[in-house]
Amino acid sequence: MKKIALHWKIIIGMVLGIIFGFIMNTLEMGPKFISDWIAPFGTIFINLLKLIAVPLILASLIKGISDLKDISKIKTMGLRTILIYVGTTLIAIIIGLTIVNTIQPGVGMSPDTIEKIKTKYENSEGVVDKLNKASNQHDAGPLQALVDIFPSNIFTALGEAKMLQVIFFALFVGICLLLVPKKKAKPLVKFFDSLNEVVMKMVDLIMLFAPYAVFALMANVIIAFDDTEILVKLLGYALCVVFGLVLMICFYLMLVKVYTKKSPLWFLKEISPAQLLAFSTSSSAATLPVTMERVEEHLGVDKEVSGFVLPVGATVNMDGTSLYQGIAAVFIMQVIWPEGLTFTNQLVIIATALLASIGSAAVPSAGMVMLVIVLESIGFPAELLPIGLALIFAVDRPLDMCRTVVNVTGDATVSMLVAKSLGKLGKPKVKNWDDNYEKV
Ligand code: ASP
Repeated sequence: MKKIALHWKIIIGMVLGIIFGFIMNTLEMGPKFISDWIAPFGTIFINLLKLIAVPLILASLIKGISDLKDISKIKTMGLRTILIYVGTTLIAIIIGLTIVNTIQPGVGMSPDTIEKIKTKYENSEGVVDKLNKASNQHDAGPLQALVDIFPSNIFTALGEAKMLQVIFFALFVGICLLLVPKKKAKPLVKFFDSLNEVVMKMVDLIMLFAPYAVFALMANVIIAFDDTEILVKLLGYALCVVFGLVLMICFYLMLVKVYTKKSPLWFLKEISPAQLLAFSTSSSAATLPVTMERVEEHLGVDKEVSGFVLPVGATVNMDGTSLYQGIAAVFIMQVIWPEGLTFTNQLVIIATALLASIGSAAVPSAGMVMLVIVLESIGFPAELLPIGLALIFAVDRPLDMCRTVVNVTGDATVSMLVAKSLGKLGKPKVKNWDDNYEKV
């Protein structure tokens, strides 16, 4: 019998999880059963992925850099990566703003609906939590983000999984390995090479569990939806975000086709397990090990490129998030603060959504926390902020799932582009779709 490909198994797990979640939602004890007995398996899976993320970045980047013949390539790679990241993020925000200003999903929302949403969510735990987190972000100085890249203690950086600090350390070690005599560097290079192989195998093994884990994750998401009436009222806004995200994916596919001459369908097929996990976990950070495995072994990007571009991207490149922030900010203004809808404010949104998506953590609903900063930058009245967040809260989780897919796909696309431009896009190691998983 022909084996079912991994992405199909994950899709089946997702669909069954959704159906199971809906059924359990109709039973009185159903939601409790899911959170007590099903959801923990999703958490275990996410923990395992996070567990291997840091060793994977370290090993892959140190090994990749120490293999480089030409050290100046690091500078070129860094510059190109950042430029393309900023470029794609700006395009995402502009797409978002164009859609929301054309369709205007917030215009004409009935006062009744607004009142209902306000009463339900304005003082809800979720909204209050986002506002508190956003106010903590304010206390930092303007250069804090830069200071945060440089660790003072590598064990703290590794322990707290501070991605940019770990990347800095790995680059530093990799470059120094190139500068010391070959004989002295060899044992350490071999160590990281071997560590890289082992962690990659761990990804394969963890992925065997993926179809069951997404079942648990999806069932747990479904039990959170309790008010379908409000969901329907927000459909216009939600569809604008989804439409923008789909356009972004088409844009990536076009870039892959035009610049790397590879088939967009092949790209989508190879990267799909990472996309499906991004969708189920709503976290680019948790998905990172799978994104790295897919990009290195299935898309043919060299380690020194993927080891740098992907972890940096998971932290700073969030095209889906920035597109959503643009749409959400304007939608909220259309509903409760139409006088703020000026051209200048929209320009400010472009700049702040760019910075906010860079500053958003790669975890569920981080984009909504940073949306508060975007709104504040245009002088949105503070007393309206809880109502603003309340307006979009009910549909935020599904939109978070979708924007995380775009965030991850964007990182994978840029890694292909950078690799191609540096002559580092080779033949995929794993030619057959499921080879990796059949071996285990
Ligand atoms: N969940 C997103 C991510 O991890 C961030 C966000 O938009 O909330 O990429």
